[in-house]
Amino acid sequence: MIVDTHAHLTLEGLREDVEGVLSRARRAGVGAVITVGIDPEDSRAAVTLAEARSGVWATVGVHPHEAARVTDAQLDDLADLARSSDRVVAWGEIGLDYFRDRSPRDAQQQRFRDQLRRARELGLPVVIHDREAHEDTLRILRDEAGEGLRGVFHCFSGDLALAREVLALGFYLSVPGTVTYPRNDRLREVVAHVPLERVLLETDCPFLAPQPKRGRTNEPAYIVHTAAEVARVRGLEVGDVARITTRACRNLFGIGEVRTNPIAYPIRRSLYLNVTDRCTNRCAFCPKHRAPVVKGHDLALDHEPTADEVLAAVEDQGGPEAWDEVVFCGFGEPLLRLDLVKRVARELRARGARRIRINTDGLASAVHRRDVPAELAGLVDAVSVSLNAPDAETYERLCRPGIPDAYPAVLTFLSRAREQIPEVTASVVAVPGLDVEACRRRAEELGVRFRVRPYNEVG
Ligand code: SF4
Ligand SMILES: [Zn+2]
Ligand SMILES: [Zn+2]
Repeated sequence: MIVDTHAHLTLEGLREDVEGVLSRARRAGVGAVITVGIDPEDSRAAVTLAEARSGVWATVGVHPHEAARVTDAQLDDLADLARSSDRVVAWGEIGLDYFRDRSPRDAQQQRFRDQLRRARELGLPVVIHDREAHEDTLRILRDEAGEGLRGVFHCFSGDLALAREVLALGFYLSVPGTVTYPRNDRLREVVAHVPLERVLLETDCPFLAPQPKRGRTNEPAYIVHTAAEVARVRGLEVGDVARITTRACRNLFGIGEVRTNPIAYPIRRSLYLNVTDRCTNRCAFCPKHRAPVVKGHDLALDHEPTADEVLAAVEDQGGPEAWDEVVFCGFGEPLLRLDLVKRVARELRARGARRIRINTDGLASAVHRRDVPAELAGLVDAVSVSLNAPDAETYERLCRPGIPDAYPAVLTFLSRAREQIPEVTASVVAVPGLDVEACRRRAEELGVRFRVRPYNEVG
């Protein structure tokens, strides 16, 4: 499911055929649409529409173009409207537009502040319109932010530096169809480098149709082109982008459904298995301490699954043959459940798995006091071992292992794995300050492949 987080279904071009627009959206996989108000009358129309149609939600607010015309009484009425309907998920769109300057700038700024305060009082997130007014928009947001003001920069049009400022304020970025335009490398650069967990998708229809539909009236169904471009830029599948951005939408606006399976979860063309949340290490950089979410999947386990439960979860995802590879991974150390991993791997192979990989911290032989790589020989095609450090001291500091002499144990595991398993990779997370080149030399000495994983990005 994809959410179009910013549409104007009440405007000319869409309102004449809302039924058709929404049914095409549903067929394209758009599960929810937020229709955004731009003035008092339009906000009322948006709420009426949202109340009448399933899958449609609304915002109320006054666009900067209308700032000079709106009265305090009208803003009070909008606040009442927001309180009166559970279909209202945000206040907006509000902000500053110095490109068209349709209202004087001081009026824009005043009404922006007035509406931020009302949103904060109502506990609603805000939808920000910022066109060529980045500096003033950020300044006013910082002034008015207070506790708990949250929101999104819709139709984000800044560069990566601005994106980072927006993220640091706790706000989200919303990516429109313009990301598909051949000349828009700047927005693609932003998309490539920001955490997708803080990105929303939108059409801003009826405006800004994506490249394949350029020149036509934009509509929510066309958001699939935006999702496809974001997926291309990030090296993901469209389904990954849909899931991650829908979860972001859920976090910000409280709508959008994300159904995931914590035991078997797809990312790209791989199916990952989460068999335990226990781990030998307590890595300083481990993301599970923040939230057990990977690429939009919630991996919180209410119990450790049995082998049969793992296999059933794989079947729910189309069976092992549906994927390029099946990977034991999750938010814990899979080889703590060595016997389960061996049994499941054997069964997956029998059921047609093309490739089986294990992501491990490489401490299993020390924990079980067995030669684990030898036991995995013939069962798995690849192992990725978290090396994470060029020496024992750094390893102790970064990975905080629960067993003694852990670093030499990882090195032994790697060299035994190289003798037993076709493809062996040593990986490091690029923690700031880590001597990555020294880690690479370690991997070379051991005769295994080497991979650097970005810091603060899992999956
Ligand atoms: S080995 Fe992986 S799961 Fe375990 S603490 Fe370290 S980063 Fe987290
Ligand atoms: Zn706008
Ligand atoms: Zn808009």
